[in-house]
Amino acid sequence: MKAMLLTEIVDVRTHHTPLSLRQLPEPIPSEGEILIKVSTCGVCHTELDEIEGRTPPPELPVILGHQVVGVVEDISHVGQVSPVKIGDRVGVAWIFSACGKCAHCKAGEENLCAQFRATGRDVNGGYAQYMTVPADFSHPIPDTLSDSEAAPLLCAGAIGYRSLRLANIHNGQSLGLTGFGGSNHLVLKMARHLYPNTEVFVFTRNPEEQEFARTLGAVWAGGIEATSPQKLNAIIDTTPVWKPIVEALRNLDNGGRLVVNAIRKEDTDKETLLKLDYPLHLWMEKEIKSVANVTRQDVREFLDLAAEAGIRPEYQEYALEDANQALSELRQGKIRGAKVLKISS
Ligand SMILES: [Zn+2]
Ligand SMILES: [Zn+2]
Repeated sequence: MKAMLLTEIVDVRTHHTPLSLRQLPEPIPSEGEILIKVSTCGVCHTELDEIEGRTPPPELPVILGHQVVGVVEDISHVGQVSPVKIGDRVGVAWIFSACGKCAHCKAGEENLCAQFRATGRDVNGGYAQYMTVPADFSHPIPDTLSDSEAAPLLCAGAIGYRSLRLANIHNGQSLGLTGFGGSNHLVLKMARHLYPNTEVFVFTRNPEEQEFARTLGAVWAGGIEATSPQKLNAIIDTTPVWKPIVEALRNLDNGGRLVVNAIRKEDTDKETLLKLDYPLHLWMEKEIKSVANVTRQDVREFLDLAAEAGIRPEYQEYALEDANQALSELRQGKIRGAKVLKISS
């Protein structure tokens, strides 16, 4: 099969072709796993964190990609009762497996499991024609979503959904979104559906993204350093750096919550944190909460919500062979919606 392989940790700003196209044997499912013929795989900012070593794969080489849509081709390793059939269209998300036995797993927090394994980092993912996954960690894709529409929903959408839940707002409370890429543009669509009276304010440095946000229903859009026209009850930050955190805390209302939806932050502007002023940024019971991974429940609830509410991502398609180009554009901030590799039809 064809696969785009990561063989070494590099800086994508100076090394524009981090992945190499290889011909590899089709993977063989382990016990409990199914084989999937991959149709599409979304491109996520987390892939840059993996390639550049902020959340490095434990072993190289590895096939990246954790927003995978495909068709089940082999269930012979699953045992008597398989949750999926041959020919089913399924998705694979960032959660590849968790132990199922620890206190976190039992409490429905499998995203926090110490044995959590991430698709396309800890095991091979979907930048390839085939992949394997535990049958229980594959997700049915609603019929109304196309392969390319569904892929970005599996990470950007699912983690956006988790972020919005952790923002802990109710209908009518105000919401800020910092950064407006693959995830937050979907959060805006979700928020408009789940909280119709909530006003959404978007902070992004790119004027085109500000305009895009207004088109999707944001009542206001401005730069990262801008002051929002009102204090906000919650803000979801999806940027890779630190300055937006300080700016968001300033725009939060008393008792407000900042949700940081980022697996890692880059250290380039870390000194900005020294500008944190306790009374201005933190006092009055402001909270900061990070978002870690997703659970299967997040993924499935969100796919159902997307199908029911007609939430579709804006996306651009690339060939598997052009994965490096997609990653490089993501690195340069050339984002409008999501990027999807179209691998087979
Ligand atoms: Zn992702
Ligand atoms: Zn566990």
